[in-house]
Amino acid sequence: MPIHELVTGVHRFREQAFREQKELFEKLAGGQAPQTLFITCSDSRIDPNLITHTDPGDLFVLRNAGNIVPAYRAATGGETATIEFAIDGLGITDIVVCGHSHCGAMKGLLYPEAVKEMPAVAEWLGYADATLRIVKSKYMHLPENDLLTVTIEENVLIQIENLQTHPAVAVGLVQGKLKLHAWVYEIETGDVYAFDPAIGQFTSLSALRPPTDAVPQRILQVESGDSAFGVGSRPGQFRSPAFPE
Ligand SMILES: [Zn+2]
Repeated sequence: MPIHELVTGVHRFREQAFREQKELFEKLAGGQAPQTLFITCSDSRIDPNLITHTDPGDLFVLRNAGNIVPAYRAATGGETATIEFAIDGLGITDIVVCGHSHCGAMKGLLYPEAVKEMPAVAEWLGYADATLRIVKSKYMHLPENDLLTVTIEENVLIQIENLQTHPAVAVGLVQGKLKLHAWVYEIETGDVYAFDPAIGQFTSLSALRPPTDAVPQRILQVESGDSAFGVGSRPGQFRSPAFPE
C-alpha cells in the first residue's frame, strides 16, 4: 500500500474510529495499564489487537523478525529493555509469545541460503539456534510444510524458555505474579493455538469456551492452554522436549 493511502487512512481514522472511541483515547492520554506483554513477529499479516479483539491500551507489544527473545545478556537491546519495563514498570501479569504460520523468519532459519545476502538477519536468527538444533535432531524426516509448522511451534517454546533467563520474568514466576503463554496464530484460518503443557500439544483456542478467572499458579513454565475446558488436538502436534513429563 503506497504511503499516500496511509495518509488518507489517518484522515479517515480521525473522522471515524477516533471519533467513535474518543473517550477511550482521552483516557489513554492519561496513561497506560496493559496487563499483557504480547511478543510476536514483525510480519505484516499479524494484528495483535485484531486477533485478540482488544483495544489500544490493552497490549504492550514487542515485535521482531521471528518473535525471538534472546536469552538475558545474550543481546542487551530493545527486547531486554521492553521485557524489563513491561514487568517492573507496568506490572504486566501475562506474557504471550505468538508465532505464526508461514513465518518467513522461520523459513530463513530452516533454509539459511535464503538469507545469506542479509547478514543482519542471519545473525539475528542465530538467537534461534536452539530451535534449529532441536528441529534438526528430531524432525528432518517431516514433509516441508510440517517441518515449518514444528519449527514455528518449537521456536515459540524455545523463546518461552529464553524469557525465563530474564531476571524480571524469573522473579515474577517465583512470586506467582506472572504467567507465560505459547501461542501460534494461523493466518489462513484466523485460529490461535496455545501450547498445553499437560498434554504437550498446541490446541485450538477457538475450540474452547473463554476462560473465566484464571487461577494463579506458582512457577508454571507455560500456563495451560486452558486445557481444563477440554479440546480436540491439532493434527501434526508434537511433544516438546521443553516440557518433560
Ligand atoms: Zn514471522
